[in-house]
Amino acid sequence: TVRVRNLVRRFTLKGVLNGVDLDIQRGEFVALLGRSGSGKSTLLRALADLDREATGSGELLVPEKLSVVFQDARLLPWKRVLDNVVLGLEGGEVRERGRKALAEVELGGRENSWPYELSGGEQQRVALARSLVRQPELLLADEPFGALDALTRIRMHILLRRLSEVHNPAVLLVTHDVDEAIELADRVVVLDDGKIAADIAVNLPQEGRGRHARALDLRRQL
Ligand code: ATP
Ligand code: MG
Repeated sequence: TVRVRNLVRRFTLKGVLNGVDLDIQRGEFVALLGRSGSGKSTLLRALADLDREATGSGELLVPEKLSVVFQDARLLPWKRVLDNVVLGLEGGEVRERGRKALAEVELGGRENSWPYELSGGEQQRVALARSLVRQPELLLADEPFGALDALTRIRMHILLRRLSEVHNPAVLLVTHDVDEAIELADRVVVLDDGKIAADIAVNLPQEGRGRHARALDLRRQL
């Protein structure tokens, strides 16, 4: 689904991505870690074709149907929740699909609320519904839960994992949270020095002591 080869991106003087290679298959959930300033958002923006300020080269193959979720929900404040979800979509059944997506993120009944009436976590769920209703083949998420409290974040993890299994897009999730990466992803990729420095399969056991041992082992490899 996603194929990146020797991707280079730089801003004026500074090289940020310095030959990134990355493949993501349909249905695969990849977490992208890396220290602040390592170029995670730059890579995500390159994939989403939102990197007009950068110059660069390389091969970049992504599906046309992709959605992006950012750290803040970026809802239009003058549009109601359902109108935000289906924004820009056309067709007779889109509102029904929007309603269904809102129900999937556990916001059924909030269709007519205004964004300011929702909590941060609820707004983030609206942003997720807005992405899913577009049925993307690739879901890009840049620290989507960074601004949420720990308990809300756990609920969002369960929700995102469930939704990714139902809708089955390729997912690239940028995060600073190692636990989040290990808990959610099939693969953890680490960006360092403008390159992919580690690419680790997660496959945690469902439960039991083996799960903790494996999680610990993964942390050591990062
Ligand atoms: P964080 O974890 O803090 O979000 P990041 O890994 O997402 O960091 P990027 O936002 O990709 O990092 O930035 C990588 C580098 O590129 C940084 O040094 C940043 O200053 C630089 N950079 C990003 N965007 C621009 C821009 N529009 N113009 C100039 N430099 C930029
Ligand atoms: Mg970033």
